Amino acid sequence: MGCEIEMKLADLVLAKVLIVGGGVTGTSVADVLERLGSEISIFDEDSSLFADARFISAEQVQSGDWHLAIVSPGWRPNHPILEGLRERGIRFLSEVDLAWFLKTEINPGQKWLAITGTNGKTTTVEMTSAMLRAAGRTAFACGNVGETVIGAVVGDVQYEYLVLELSSFQLHWSDQPEFSAAAILNIADDHTDWHGGFQNYALAKLRILNRAQIAILNSEDPAVVENTSSWEGKKVFYSLGSPLPGELGVVEELLVDRAFVADTSEAEVIAELADVIPTSPHNVSNALAAAGLARSVGIAHSSIRMAIQEFRPGRHRIELVGEKNGVRWVNDSKATNPHAAAASLNSAHSVVWIAGGLAKGASMHELVAKMGEHIRVALLIGKDRELIAKELEELAPHVEIIRIDVSEDDENSLMEKVVLTASVLVQSGDTVLMAPACASMDQFISYADRGDQFAAAVQKFVLT
Ligand code: ADP
Repeated sequence: MGCEIEMKLADLVLAKVLIVGGGVTGTSVADVLERLGSEISIFDEDSSLFADARFISAEQVQSGDWHLAIVSPGWRPNHPILEGLRERGIRFLSEVDLAWFLKTEINPGQKWLAITGTNGKTTTVEMTSAMLRAAGRTAFACGNVGETVIGAVVGDVQYEYLVLELSSFQLHWSDQPEFSAAAILNIADDHTDWHGGFQNYALAKLRILNRAQIAILNSEDPAVVENTSSWEGKKVFYSLGSPLPGELGVVEELLVDRAFVADTSEAEVIAELADVIPTSPHNVSNALAAAGLARSVGIAHSSIRMAIQEFRPGRHRIELVGEKNGVRWVNDSKATNPHAAAASLNSAHSVVWIAGGLAKGASMHELVAKMGEHIRVALLIGKDRELIAKELEELAPHVEIIRIDVSEDDENSLMEKVVLTASVLVQSGDTVLMAPACASMDQFISYADRGDQFAAAVQKFVLT
């Protein structure tokens, strides 16, 4: 990794390629390479996949004669299979790197914009592509959201722009694409167990700037500012405060641009605050990042505003399930880390907070220290809930803590028990907020499953 690699379609046709990881990314890469005529094999540890004849064993990986290995995002760099390949000098690429090589031949004029951050990636990627489309350009959001990047490159439509959502895992393995502009929204504690600490996680995110022409950066996030201080390219900062020349920001009720304007001593209006729905601080911040990316490729303020007015965040992101007797029931199941949970706790007061699950190595200290005052009751579930309980007991002793478990004899599911418990505790003015600060997989199939179960239980026991 890190070296200059020139790759041509012709090289791939002749290549014998090992694909590490048989999930969505790996199989998408396999399908594309097979169509190009490469000889591919796939390695995965999940034996249920072995029925597919393309899958091979660890022994076959070690004895195989590979030109190239394409590594799927979740794979730890120190995995023995990867260590073995590295020792043999096999070249590693990511799906995103490979997609870049293909796009330079298939659609050389296509521009790539990219977004990373601990939270807000999907929302911002979708906002950005909506802004491009509002200006009549063809644009597609891909990467960690929906379609893979390689799928978007080889698909039927030749888009003028791809807007890439890139996770820290994808960035760890990728360094070839040249982004017209790249945004870093925030860097907070998440996935530190995988990366081996916060600093490595931050460094993975910074790789998005390796070949970027312009960086769009959140000046209110200290980790973003510190970690990009030595980057020498063109930086455009944005914040919820009044912008300096060269920045985007907020002045009174307006989102304004002092970066991509003819005269930076003047501010041009992008949109009104009320155009951003919901008008919560983090959502306005995402809109400014998206506007910065769109402006970097010449999209007019009027198109940006039109897109902002029509945009609504996706499901499970501070989604109002319903309101009854002065109590709001909110599904923010996508808050899978403390930084996201803090954003939603910040937009409510007197919260009955449903939290817990898999913490992925993140600390709950800052979340509880900053947001403890917003919480009245905490209903805790999941494997790592004691991490939250401990911080609440120390930093927010006024919070009533209730731990909820389910046994085989229970006639209700875990989430039904949670909602039933909340329903007898609530007072008018409360927000019941399911923003767990943790991943869901210890007790649910996914964050979406957790959110759906919450919404269904609220419908069943509260709203009807
Ligand atoms: P990602 O793709 O990075 O996971 P999403 O847009 O899906 O981002 O949002 C994930 C979670 O983070 C949701 O709970 C959402 O409400 C919250 N969120 C969105 N934008 C931000 C932000 N800028 N800062 C903090 N939390 C955010």
